[in-house]
Amino acid sequence: MSHDFRSSDAGSTLLRQTQPRIFLVGRPGAGKGTQGVRLAQRLGVQYVSTGDVLRKAIEAQTPLGTAIEKVINAGNLLPAELIISLVDSCIEGDGYVLDGFPRTVAQAVAVTSQASSSPPIALEIAIPSNVALERLTHRGRCDDDITIARRRLVVYESETVPMLNYLQSCGLLHRIDGDAPADSVETSIWQRLSVVLGSSHPAPAVPMPACRNSLSETASLFGVVAAG
Ligand code: ADP
Repeated sequence: MSHDFRSSDAGSTLLRQTQPRIFLVGRPGAGKGTQGVRLAQRLGVQYVSTGDVLRKAIEAQTPLGTAIEKVINAGNLLPAELIISLVDSCIEGDGYVLDGFPRTVAQAVAVTSQASSSPPIALEIAIPSNVALERLTHRGRCDDDITIARRRLVVYESETVPMLNYLQSCGLLHRIDGDAPADSVETSIWQRLSVVLGSSHPAPAVPMPACRNSLSETASLFGVVAAG
Protein backbone atom coordinates (compact mmCIF):
# COMPACT_ATOMS: atom_id res chain seq x y z
CA MET A 1 0.00 0.00 0.00
CA SER A 2 1.51 3.31 -1.01
CA HIS A 3 0.57 6.77 0.09
CA ASP A 4 2.08 10.19 -0.20
CA PHE A 5 1.08 13.55 1.16
CA ARG A 6 0.06 15.45 -1.97
CA SER A 7 -2.36 17.98 -0.60
CA SER A 8 -0.18 20.76 0.80
CA ASP A 9 -3.03 22.54 2.58
CA ALA A 10 -4.53 19.42 4.19
CA GLY A 11 -5.32 20.27 7.78
CA SER A 12 -6.02 23.92 7.05
CA THR A 13 -9.73 23.78 7.93
CA LEU A 14 -8.79 22.03 11.14
CA LEU A 15 -6.75 25.12 12.06
CA ARG A 16 -8.82 28.02 10.72
CA GLN A 17 -11.50 28.25 13.43
CA THR A 18 -12.60 30.84 15.96
CA GLN A 19 -15.11 28.73 17.94
CA PRO A 20 -13.79 26.03 20.32
CA ARG A 21 -11.78 23.19 18.82
CA ILE A 22 -12.13 20.20 21.10
CA PHE A 23 -10.17 16.97 20.68
CA LEU A 24 -11.72 14.05 22.55
CA VAL A 25 -9.15 11.37 23.26
CA GLY A 26 -9.02 8.24 25.37
CA ARG A 27 -8.81 4.47 25.14
CA PRO A 28 -11.18 2.61 22.82
CA GLY A 29 -14.42 2.21 24.76
CA ALA A 30 -13.82 5.32 26.91
CA GLY A 31 -17.16 6.83 25.88
CA LYS A 32 -15.84 9.43 23.45
CA GLY A 33 -18.80 8.98 21.11
CA THR A 34 -21.45 9.39 23.81
CA GLN A 35 -19.75 12.40 25.34
CA GLY A 36 -18.72 13.91 22.02
CA VAL A 37 -22.28 14.10 20.70
CA ARG A 38 -23.54 15.65 23.96
CA LEU A 39 -20.71 18.14 24.12
CA ALA A 40 -21.02 19.28 20.51
CA GLN A 41 -24.73 19.85 21.04
CA ARG A 42 -24.10 21.93 24.17
CA LEU A 43 -21.45 24.02 22.43
CA GLY A 44 -23.40 24.31 19.18
CA VAL A 45 -20.50 23.04 17.11
CA GLN A 46 -20.03 20.14 14.71
CA TYR A 47 -19.30 16.63 15.99
CA VAL A 48 -16.98 14.48 13.89
CA SER A 49 -15.96 10.92 14.75
CA THR A 50 -12.95 9.65 12.84
CA GLY A 51 -14.17 6.08 13.38
CA ASP A 52 -17.55 6.92 11.81
CA VAL A 53 -15.89 8.68 8.87
CA LEU A 54 -13.75 5.60 8.26
CA ARG A 55 -16.66 3.16 8.65
CA LYS A 56 -18.62 5.22 6.11
CA ALA A 57 -15.68 4.88 3.73
CA ILE A 58 -15.71 1.11 4.26
CA GLU A 59 -19.46 0.89 3.59
CA ALA A 60 -18.95 2.67 0.26
CA GLN A 61 -17.05 -0.48 -0.84
CA THR A 62 -14.49 1.49 -2.82
CA PRO A 63 -10.87 0.35 -3.14
CA LEU A 64 -10.03 2.99 -0.55
CA GLY A 65 -12.68 1.57 1.79
CA THR A 66 -11.29 -1.94 1.40
CA ALA A 67 -7.78 -0.70 2.19
CA ILE A 68 -9.10 1.12 5.27
CA GLU A 69 -11.04 -1.97 6.42
CA LYS A 70 -7.89 -4.10 6.37
CA VAL A 71 -6.03 -1.63 8.60
CA ILE A 72 -8.92 -1.26 11.07
CA ASN A 73 -9.59 -4.99 11.27
CA ALA A 74 -5.95 -5.57 12.13
CA GLY A 75 -6.38 -3.16 15.06
CA ASN A 76 -3.88 -0.72 13.54
CA LEU A 77 -4.03 3.00 12.81
CA LEU A 78 -4.44 4.70 9.45
CA PRO A 79 -1.65 6.92 8.05
CA ALA A 80 -1.69 10.43 9.55
CA GLU A 81 -1.91 12.07 6.13
CA LEU A 82 -5.07 10.17 5.23
CA ILE A 83 -6.79 10.84 8.55
CA ILE A 84 -5.90 14.54 8.50
CA SER A 85 -7.15 14.91 4.96
CA LEU A 86 -10.39 12.99 5.63
CA VAL A 87 -11.14 14.81 8.87
CA ASP A 88 -10.24 18.18 7.41
CA SER A 89 -12.73 17.65 4.58
CA CYS A 90 -15.49 16.96 7.11
CA ILE A 91 -15.19 20.26 9.00
CA GLU A 92 -17.95 22.53 7.79
CA GLY A 93 -18.79 25.03 10.48
CA ASP A 94 -16.83 27.12 12.95
CA GLY A 95 -15.61 25.06 15.88
CA TYR A 96 -15.85 21.31 16.37
CA VAL A 97 -15.66 18.34 18.68
CA LEU A 98 -13.39 15.70 17.15
CA ASP A 99 -13.75 12.18 18.50
CA GLY A 100 -10.73 9.95 17.99
CA PHE A 101 -8.31 12.54 16.68
CA PRO A 102 -5.43 13.05 17.17
CA ARG A 103 -4.18 9.56 18.05
CA THR A 104 -0.47 9.88 17.33
CA VAL A 105 2.23 12.46 17.94
CA ALA A 106 2.37 13.16 14.18
CA GLN A 107 -1.35 13.96 14.11
CA ALA A 108 -1.13 16.16 17.20
CA VAL A 109 1.87 18.06 15.84
CA ALA A 110 -0.04 18.72 12.61
CA VAL A 111 -2.84 20.50 14.47
CA THR A 112 -0.84 22.29 17.14
CA SER A 113 2.44 23.36 15.58
CA GLN A 114 1.02 25.96 13.20
CA ALA A 115 -0.39 29.29 14.19
CA SER A 116 -4.16 29.27 14.65
CA SER A 117 -6.65 31.72 16.06
CA SER A 118 -7.10 29.86 19.35
CA PRO A 119 -5.39 26.86 20.93
CA PRO A 120 -7.29 23.57 20.76
CA ILE A 121 -8.52 21.90 23.94
CA ALA A 122 -7.75 18.20 24.34
CA LEU A 123 -10.00 16.28 26.72
CA GLU A 124 -8.84 12.83 27.71
CA ILE A 125 -11.65 10.59 28.95
CA ALA A 126 -9.53 8.29 31.09
CA ILE A 127 -10.43 4.67 31.81
CA PRO A 128 -8.12 1.80 32.81
CA SER A 129 -7.25 -0.90 30.21
CA ASN A 130 -9.26 -3.60 31.97
CA VAL A 131 -12.40 -1.44 31.90
CA ALA A 132 -11.77 -0.66 28.21
CA LEU A 133 -11.46 -4.35 27.34
CA GLU A 134 -14.58 -5.22 29.31
CA ARG A 135 -16.60 -2.50 27.56
CA LEU A 136 -15.28 -3.33 24.07
CA THR A 137 -16.07 -7.03 24.32
CA HIS A 138 -19.68 -6.14 25.22
CA ARG A 139 -20.08 -3.59 22.42
CA GLY A 140 -20.11 -6.05 19.52
CA ARG A 141 -18.55 -4.05 16.68
CA CYS A 142 -16.52 -6.27 14.34
CA ASP A 143 -13.22 -4.62 15.37
CA ASP A 144 -14.20 -5.29 19.00
CA ASP A 145 -13.32 -8.99 18.73
CA ILE A 146 -11.15 -9.78 21.77
CA THR A 147 -7.92 -10.26 19.79
CA ILE A 148 -8.38 -7.04 17.81
CA ALA A 149 -9.49 -5.13 20.91
CA ARG A 150 -6.29 -6.22 22.72
CA ARG A 151 -4.23 -5.11 19.75
CA ARG A 152 -5.98 -1.70 19.73
CA LEU A 153 -5.14 -1.25 23.41
CA VAL A 154 -1.49 -2.11 22.74
CA VAL A 155 -1.42 0.40 19.87
CA TYR A 156 -3.01 2.96 22.22
CA GLU A 157 -0.09 2.55 24.66
CA SER A 158 2.58 2.76 21.98
CA GLU A 159 1.09 5.46 19.71
CA THR A 160 -1.46 7.46 21.70
CA VAL A 161 0.05 7.67 25.17
CA PRO A 162 3.16 9.49 23.77
CA MET A 163 0.71 11.83 22.00
CA LEU A 164 -1.01 12.54 25.34
CA ASN A 165 2.39 13.33 26.84
CA TYR A 166 3.07 15.69 23.96
CA LEU A 167 -0.25 17.51 24.44
CA GLN A 168 0.38 17.69 28.18
CA SER A 169 3.78 19.26 27.60
CA CYS A 170 2.02 21.87 25.45
CA GLY A 171 -0.40 22.57 28.31
CA LEU A 172 -3.34 21.52 26.15
CA LEU A 173 -4.47 18.31 27.89
CA HIS A 174 -7.29 18.01 30.42
CA ARG A 175 -7.91 14.62 31.99
CA ILE A 176 -11.43 13.55 33.00
CA ASP A 177 -12.26 10.35 34.90
CA GLY A 178 -14.30 8.26 32.47
CA ASP A 179 -14.85 5.28 34.78
CA ALA A 180 -18.20 6.61 36.00
CA PRO A 181 -21.81 6.79 34.73
CA ALA A 182 -22.18 8.73 31.46
CA ASP A 183 -24.12 11.59 33.11
CA SER A 184 -21.39 12.12 35.75
CA VAL A 185 -18.70 12.08 33.08
CA GLU A 186 -20.72 14.65 31.13
CA THR A 187 -20.95 16.88 34.20
CA SER A 188 -17.20 16.59 34.85
CA ILE A 189 -16.40 17.48 31.25
CA TRP A 190 -18.72 20.46 31.27
CA GLN A 191 -17.39 21.77 34.57
CA ARG A 192 -13.81 21.55 33.36
CA LEU A 193 -14.61 23.07 30.00
CA SER A 194 -16.55 25.96 31.51
CA VAL A 195 -13.42 26.94 33.39
CA VAL A 196 -11.17 26.56 30.36
CA LEU A 197 -13.48 28.42 28.00
CA GLY A 198 -14.46 31.16 30.44
CA SER A 199 -17.87 32.75 30.61
CA SER A 200 -18.43 33.29 26.88
CA HIS A 201 -19.98 29.82 26.49
CA PRO A 202 -22.20 27.86 26.13
CA ALA A 203 -23.17 28.99 22.68
CA PRO A 204 -26.73 28.19 21.54
CA ALA A 205 -27.16 24.64 20.26
CA VAL A 206 -27.62 24.55 16.48
CA PRO A 207 -27.84 21.44 14.29
CA MET A 208 -24.71 20.98 12.21
CA PRO A 209 -24.59 19.60 8.66
CA ALA A 210 -23.60 15.98 8.15
CA CYS A 211 -20.09 15.18 7.07
CA ARG A 212 -19.72 15.39 3.31
CA ASN A 213 -18.18 12.52 1.43
CA SER A 214 -14.94 13.50 -0.24
CA LEU A 215 -13.33 10.12 -0.60
CA SER A 216 -12.23 10.59 -4.19
CA GLU A 217 -10.13 13.57 -3.10
CA THR A 218 -8.33 11.55 -0.49
CA ALA A 219 -8.20 8.17 -2.23
CA SER A 220 -4.95 9.11 -3.93
CA LEU A 221 -3.28 9.22 -0.54
CA PHE A 222 -3.69 5.47 -0.42
CA GLY A 223 -2.55 5.04 -3.98
CA VAL A 224 -6.02 3.87 -5.05
CA VAL A 225 -8.86 5.34 -7.06
CA ALA A 226 -12.18 5.83 -5.29
CA ALA A 227 -15.27 4.67 -7.16
CA GLY A 228 -18.20 7.01 -7.86
P1 ADP B 1 -12.31 3.42 19.27
O1 ADP B 1 -11.98 4.79 19.75
O2 ADP B 1 -13.36 2.75 20.07
O3 ADP B 1 -11.07 2.59 19.04
P2 ADP B 1 -13.05 4.44 16.66
O4 ADP B 1 -14.38 4.17 16.09
O5 ADP B 1 -12.75 5.84 17.08
O6 ADP B 1 -12.93 3.42 17.84
O7 ADP B 1 -11.89 4.01 15.64
C1 ADP B 1 -11.91 2.74 15.01
C2 ADP B 1 -10.61 2.52 14.23
O8 ADP B 1 -10.45 3.55 13.23
C3 ADP B 1 -9.33 2.58 15.06
O9 ADP B 1 -9.04 1.37 15.71
C4 ADP B 1 -8.30 2.93 13.95
O10 ADP B 1 -7.97 1.79 13.18
C5 ADP B 1 -9.06 3.89 13.06
N1 ADP B 1 -8.85 5.30 13.48
C6 ADP B 1 -9.77 6.08 14.08
N2 ADP B 1 -9.25 7.31 14.33
C7 ADP B 1 -7.98 7.28 13.87
C8 ADP B 1 -6.91 8.23 13.84
N3 ADP B 1 -7.03 9.46 14.33
N4 ADP B 1 -5.73 7.86 13.29
C9 ADP B 1 -5.56 6.64 12.75
N5 ADP B 1 -6.52 5.69 12.75
C10 ADP B 1 -7.72 5.99 13.30
